[in-house]
Amino acid sequence: MAAAEKILTELQRIVGAENVLTAPEDLIPYSFDGTAGMQQMPGCVVFAKTTEQIAAILKQANETKTAIVTRGSGTGLSGGSLPSPDCIVLCTVKMDRILELDRANLTMLVEPGVTTLQVADAASAAGLFYPPDPGSMKISTIGGNVAENSGGLRGLKYGVTRNYIMGMELVLPTGELLWTGNKCVKDVAGYSLKDLFIGSEGTLGVITKVLLRLIPKPAAKKTMVATFAQMDQAAEAVSAIIAAQIIPCTLEFLDRMTIHCVEDYSKIGLPLDCEALLLMETDGHAVVVAEEAAQMKKICRDHGCLEVRMAKDETEAGKLASARRSAFSALARVAPTTILEDATVPRSELAKMIRFVEATAKKYRLKIGTFGHMGDGNLHPTFLTNERDQEEMHRVEEAFKEIFAEAIRLGGTITGEHGVGLAKKSFLPAFAGDAPMRVMRELRRALDPNGILNPGKMFD
Ligand SMILES: Cc1cc2nc3c(=O)[nH]c(=O)nc-3n(C[C@H](O)[C@H](O)[C@H](O)COP(=O)(O)OP(=O)(O)OC[C@H]3O[C@@H](n4cnc5c(N)ncnc54)[C@H](O)[C@@H]3O)c2cc1C
Repeated sequence: MAAAEKILTELQRIVGAENVLTAPEDLIPYSFDGTAGMQQMPGCVVFAKTTEQIAAILKQANETKTAIVTRGSGTGLSGGSLPSPDCIVLCTVKMDRILELDRANLTMLVEPGVTTLQVADAASAAGLFYPPDPGSMKISTIGGNVAENSGGLRGLKYGVTRNYIMGMELVLPTGELLWTGNKCVKDVAGYSLKDLFIGSEGTLGVITKVLLRLIPKPAAKKTMVATFAQMDQAAEAVSAIIAAQIIPCTLEFLDRMTIHCVEDYSKIGLPLDCEALLLMETDGHAVVVAEEAAQMKKICRDHGCLEVRMAKDETEAGKLASARRSAFSALARVAPTTILEDATVPRSELAKMIRFVEATAKKYRLKIGTFGHMGDGNLHPTFLTNERDQEEMHRVEEAFKEIFAEAIRLGGTITGEHGVGLAKKSFLPAFAGDAPMRVMRELRRALDPNGILNPGKMFD
């Protein structure tokens, strides 16, 4: 029996033949993720249902030096779950149980294939709150969120996925099991291994359980939208809101191109005659929320906003918030290829960075719609292009390079939430520097001596 055939037989024995896909037409949906312009067929796709199965799969892969690419829902935007040639795609979506909700300790234990929305809904049903809310939360998995340390619209006030991880179970590339973290609010025994695995993009271990931290649900929320004739005014209003010591739970912006695309797509009734739109939400105690909302409204007016619209009820609030949540889908309708980037700068440099993106779009004759998390400096310049047009793609690449170089020059980073994967791999060494690259390489070699986990991702 050929080696590849032997591996397949062993995989079928571990998870059952019905959980191993090999037919080319079945593999196609797993040959790409949410990242534009990247595709690679895997050798096979395996659905695991238990930690023990994952341990057996990794042991087998390690012995035969077969590459494993772990995959949640495949919504990643940096090519993280893109297969490597002939690899095993290890898909965790069938590990989708919420195992425990501990009201005394405010924790939830889940399997990696549970979606972010399921976690948020289960927390809410118990009167609790799980804040991380990536735009993809209806389908993204908790395993993927932890592996990418995903952010979301509430990052400014509530932080990112890392801030809600108390512990996790992993299978190391050798097949060995590892638990790190626990339900203790304070624990300083040894290195914080869980922090090493958060954001490790499937390169150091396969996450098989996650212990999440929940918090009390805010009692009240107010949602409003403000429009501005100039992007600078919106950026200054954001700075003034934060300088007034108000930390809204959402402080998002859309530029003109994105506003028009969203309105065209979802017919929310957004004002169109403006350069920038801010979506703002404040939550907490009802009295504080009312006071903060009034202050934010006044600050926007003081900074020359054209209009502030306060949502009358939850339905209208949901509609306004969906304007931001649908930005990517709305932009994606404009051109055959949508490349969503996440250059991130310190808040104070945001207006400069937005101006730079606009100038770069003009310089390279490209269509870029920009939206993002204005409160935390995380921009999503979105290139609306056509990957079949080689000449235009060359201009896109050059524009990218300039945008990332400028983000770094302004004290920012090459990725605020989407990860390095394949898309940002070439930018990482210059950004991170020699010593961090050496430490990261040594850590990876120590945990994965045969280089089987997500080979070629993040760095070689
Ligand atoms: C429309 C849209 C909106 C988005 N909005 C946001 C946003 O607001 N904020 C944000 O941060 N991201 C956003 N994303 C990006 C993406 O949804 C997140 O990175 C998400 O966390 C990926 O989850 P997933 O289950 O799809 O993981 P996948 O794409 O399948 O995998 C992502 C990475 O995680 C690894 N991985 C997956 N599961 C495991 C596991 N169990 N153990 C170890 N490694 C694993 C994979 O190997 C890969 O490297 C968006 C994407 C889309 C398409």
